[in-house]
Amino acid sequence: MPKTYDTLIIGAGIAGASVAYALTQKNKKVLVLDKNGIASGGSGAAGAFVSPKIGKGGMLQSLTNEAFVYAQDFYLSVCPQYFHQTGVLRLPKDETDVQQFDQYEKYNENAYEKYTKEMLQSLGIHTAFDGFYFPEAGDCDAKAVCAFLLEGIEVIQVEVAGLKQEEDGYWRVGDYRAKNVVLATGFESNLAELRYMGIKGTWGTRGDFVSDLALGVSMHQSMSVGANVGGIIKLGATHEKEVKESVPCQEKQALGLKEKASMLIDVADLELKEVFCGMRAGSKDYFPLVGKVIDVSRMLESAPAIVRGATAPLYYRENLYVCNGLGGRGFVFAPLMAKWLAEHIVEGKKVDTRVCADRLFFKWCRKSPELLALR
Ligand SMILES: Cc1cc2nc3c(=O)[nH]c(=O)nc-3n(C[C@H](O)[C@H](O)[C@H](O)COP(=O)(O)OP(=O)(O)OC[C@H]3O[C@@H](n4cnc5c(N)ncnc54)[C@H](O)[C@@H]3O)c2cc1C
Repeated sequence: MPKTYDTLIIGAGIAGASVAYALTQKNKKVLVLDKNGIASGGSGAAGAFVSPKIGKGGMLQSLTNEAFVYAQDFYLSVCPQYFHQTGVLRLPKDETDVQQFDQYEKYNENAYEKYTKEMLQSLGIHTAFDGFYFPEAGDCDAKAVCAFLLEGIEVIQVEVAGLKQEEDGYWRVGDYRAKNVVLATGFESNLAELRYMGIKGTWGTRGDFVSDLALGVSMHQSMSVGANVGGIIKLGATHEKEVKESVPCQEKQALGLKEKASMLIDVADLELKEVFCGMRAGSKDYFPLVGKVIDVSRMLESAPAIVRGATAPLYYRENLYVCNGLGGRGFVFAPLMAKWLAEHIVEGKKVDTRVCADRLFFKWCRKSPELLALR
């Protein structure tokens, strides 16, 4: 007899772990399946900084900052031992950036202070420019947070090769069945037709360095430098779009980060302890992807004119959901996105339109080269 759950969650990164946590808080029985174990994808590689977005306002910035406020409260109340509220500095990289920062300032929605270059230099930071200091920001112990959220929840290591829906509507994966499935598979999105969401991976590396440097604050410039927490300084960057599949982590990438960090801090005593690397999954428009999955073949069959610009009422895959596209801010977005998805699944609450994956569907039908033959 297959074992039955309310929800199967595929992927045990920060997205899957947060959704599992949120559903369990609502007394739902969930099973999490991951081919390589907890936080084995992008989430395990993340520097996991949780800081606000700066910029010239707009919907993505306000959503990110709403998620940031939720995330820091969440980590502080749920797992304060794995969230270090070190404060995060945002530093301009050059003169042009300084002018941008001047424009950004009025859009800083979260508590911040302006740190002059003299203040920054007194903290041991090599910079010729003033920056913003966000005292509520910090960073998570990436793997430990995912593992903590999954404590008491069944997690099994298995690669899900396909999804099958039985006659009674239940989803079946091997020996397990459930009413709902949540796909939280990061950049690998081949278990259902999700092409309309435009999920793409960006490769990144993090190096953890042993150090005695008295660095009490984290910072972002063109890379991220973590405060010294327990004798470890994390250096990270996620920028390479040309890497298409996971490849072994390279020490030389981490040492390259150290060299780059020397522009910001004194790296003389930094000794590489461990290298992490992975892919983060982003959407086409940088907003997260949360909610139901559209039944693409049924849509194309019932309303073929959608490939030429028509719209039509949407059909969905029954009880199939996604939580993905968290981009370079998985640890910022995941708690709030998981809350919204759990409220949607359990209470039928509408998913916030800013993150509902439907937003990309008709444009993909109209523009995607993948559907050219149907036009
Ligand atoms: C170097 C680096 C630094 C980063 N720094 C930060 C940062 O400072 N702050 C921040 O907020 N974010 C950061 N990120 C981004 C963050 O890591 C991502 O947003 C986050 O990992 C997304 O989580 P996820 O759960 O969606 O995906 P993932 O963590 O990639 O999880 C997907 C999981 O699905 C599993 N899976 C896939 N297919 C299957 C299948 N068929 N069967 C079973 N399991 C499957 C994989 O094994 C994987 O464990 C960084 C990322 C990188 C790479």
